[in-house]
Amino acid sequence: MARSLGVCLVCGEPLRYFEEVQEVTCEECGRVETGHAVCEAGHYVCDQCHRARGVEHVLTVCAASDLRDPVALAQQIMADDALYPNGPEHHTLVGAALLTAYRNAGGALDLDAALAELRRRSLAVPGGACGYWGTCGAAISAGMYCSIVLGATPMTPVPWGQTARLTSRILGRLADVGGPRCCKRSTFIALQEAAAYTAEAMGLTMELPAQATCTFMARNAECLRTACPFFPEHGRA
Ligand SMILES: [Zn+2]
Ligand SMILES: [Zn+2]
Repeated sequence: MARSLGVCLVCGEPLRYFEEVQEVTCEECGRVETGHAVCEAGHYVCDQCHRARGVEHVLTVCAASDLRDPVALAQQIMADDALYPNGPEHHTLVGAALLTAYRNAGGALDLDAALAELRRRSLAVPGGACGYWGTCGAAISAGMYCSIVLGATPMTPVPWGQTARLTSRILGRLADVGGPRCCKRSTFIALQEAAAYTAEAMGLTMELPAQATCTFMARNAECLRTACPFFPEHGRA
């Protein structure tokens, strides 16, 4: 039950989000910290516990994959129950799928080293960044992919701009669709935009499905359904 709708991992009740942080205690590890959401019964699960299994699953699958299609790779990974419907594990998933598809499509990259670097960076991006920071963890993760491939730092003139260009395009599309958050929708948009930008700016073509279709809406109580670009055609009125 707890995994079915992207709600409380302890009891399955819906989450309540606060505008200001509150002191909370993780039900799984006992960590006391500040957080923005508890369930209706008062449970809190910290980001570290929430994404522990998902992040390792992402990195294990990517390290062994030969897929050139980052959307297909992400869908394969999302199908495992280590990935919750929503959560900060997607902040690792997007960049990892892109790094893997880039290498498999012929890009020069030490994938193991790149995934290790992405892991370190992506764990710094908390859940809820979309609503609380004005940016989205999936977009940031795509930015990390771009940064790693281009060797960007705060001091590299051209890669600095290219990385910001990619994230700005992703955020523009996310804003056009609007909320509430869906980590699947944001992931698909980030992957589509990143693949297109990789072809345009780096001359490397990944594969993409003709039509990316979501299969996870039954697990997301806030699905936008026909207002989502990935809602299946047969479900449209
Ligand atoms: Zn609960
Ligand atoms: Zn915890």
